[in-house]
Amino acid sequence: MSESTKTQCPYCGVGCGLEVSAVAAGKSNDGNSWKVRGDRTHPSSHGMVCVKGATIAESINKDRLLYPMWRSSLEDAFTRISWDEALNRLVDRIQTVVQTQGADALCMYGSGQFVTEDYYLAQKLFKGCLGTNNFDANSRLCMSSAVAAYVQSFGADGPPCCYDDLELTDCAFLIGTNTAECHPIVFNRLRKHHKAFPTVKLIVVDPRTTPTAEVADLHLAIQPGTDIDLLNGIAHLLLQWGVLDRHFIEQHTTGFADYAGLVQTYSPDVVAHRCQISQADVELAARYWSEANSVLSMWSMGINQSSEGTAKARTLINLHLLTGQIGKPGAGPFSLTGQPNAMGGREAGGLSHLLPGYRSVANPQHRAEVEQAWQLPPGQISAQPGRTVSEMITGLETDAVGLLWVAATNPVVSLPDLERTKAALRRSPFTVYQEAYHPTETTAYAHLLLPATQWSEKPAR
Ligand code: SF4
Repeated sequence: MSESTKTQCPYCGVGCGLEVSAVAAGKSNDGNSWKVRGDRTHPSSHGMVCVKGATIAESINKDRLLYPMWRSSLEDAFTRISWDEALNRLVDRIQTVVQTQGADALCMYGSGQFVTEDYYLAQKLFKGCLGTNNFDANSRLCMSSAVAAYVQSFGADGPPCCYDDLELTDCAFLIGTNTAECHPIVFNRLRKHHKAFPTVKLIVVDPRTTPTAEVADLHLAIQPGTDIDLLNGIAHLLLQWGVLDRHFIEQHTTGFADYAGLVQTYSPDVVAHRCQISQADVELAARYWSEANSVLSMWSMGINQSSEGTAKARTLINLHLLTGQIGKPGAGPFSLTGQPNAMGGREAGGLSHLLPGYRSVANPQHRAEVEQAWQLPPGQISAQPGRTVSEMITGLETDAVGLLWVAATNPVVSLPDLERTKAALRRSPFTVYQEAYHPTETTAYAHLLLPATQWSEKPAR
C-alpha cells in the first residue's frame, strides 16, 4: 500500500472521499492498523467526513466471517467447509431446484452496498444465465417511492440534480428529511452556503423539530400525512400569483389543465387547517419558492417510507415542473439516498423489474438489446418481472422458493414485519448468506455462509 490510498466511504449515499493510510507498527493508540481522513479533493465531500466514515477502520477486523460455513438444518451448529465444497453445495442446490421446481424458484436478495460491478454480475447470473428475473435488492425498501415517482414523471429513474447544486441554489426545500443527522455532509455543504448568503432560504417541512428544522428560515411542522395538501397548497398560490413557467409547461409537460384544476381545491385556509399550520406560513413558503431563481428540493425517508410515498414525491416534482425549477443549476427534485449505491444498482439492472441501462424486463426491445449484448439466444431473458423481496417472503411461505441467496444486507433487521420474515426464513429449505460478518441476525437463519470481502479489500482497478 502506498502512503495513503484514496477510496470512498461505503456507508451512505453521500459517498464521501476518504484517504486511508497504514499506522506504523507500535504507533497506534487505539489498536487500529489504519488511519482514515477525509479527501479534500473529493467532489461530494470536500474533505469532510461524519463520525461513521471517520471511525470506519474499526470495522475492518471486527467479527469477520472468514471461512465458508455449512449446516443442513437451522437447529445444527455451523461447520467450516472448503470453498470447493461450498460452491459444489450451492451449484447442486441450484440444479436440483431448477429440475424440480423450475428456475423461478431461485431468488437472490442483494443490496445497495454492492458496488456497481457486483450488482451487474449478480443480476446477469440470475436474469441472463439462470433464466429468472428473481433478483431484487434492498433499495426496493428505501427508495422505491422515489424511483416510481421519477419514472412516472420523467420516464426514467435518474435524479436530475447533483451535489454541486447545493451551493448554487437560492431556496432549499427539505421535506421528510432530517438531513443534518442523516446526511450530515450534504447538510454541512448546504448550511455553509445558507450562512454565507443571507438571501438563500431554507424551508424545512417536518412534524418534528429536528436539528435540520432548528436552523431553517421557515419550519413547517405539518400534521403527519398532510404533505400533499401542503405541496398542492403552494402550487395553488403560485398559480394564483402567476408564478409559473408557461414555456416549460408547454414544451415539456402534459396534463397541465387537469393539474391546475386539481390544485384549485387547495386554498390556503383549507391547507392551513389540514396541515395544522398558519395560513401565513403556507403563504411564506410559496413566497420563498416564487422569489428564488433556483429551488432545490430534497427528501428522504419521511416521504419515501409512506403508504402514499410515490404520490408525495410526484406532487413535489409537479411543483418543479410548474415553475420550471429543473434542469438548471441549483434546481430540481433531489431524493437523498441512504445507501452508497442504490442508484448504481438500479442503473445496472439491480431490481426484479429492471435490466441494465434503465431498461425494463417487460419491454421486448429492451430484452432483445440485453440478450444481444450478453450473446444470449433470443427469448433467454424472461418477460415476467421477477419477485420483489416481499414476494420472495411470500414465496417462502408457500414453498414456492427452493433457494434464497442473500448478500450484503441484513434482512432480519431491515425487512418490514420482522416476525413474519423470520417465520418465512425458518421455512426456507436452503438459504445462502454472503456476508462479511458473523454472527449477524441473519446468519441465524442461513444454511450456507459465504465470507465476502468488504469495502477496503476490493482490489484496485
Ligand atoms: S456522510 Fe455518509 S458517506 Fe460521508 S462519511 Fe458519513 S456515512 Fe460515510
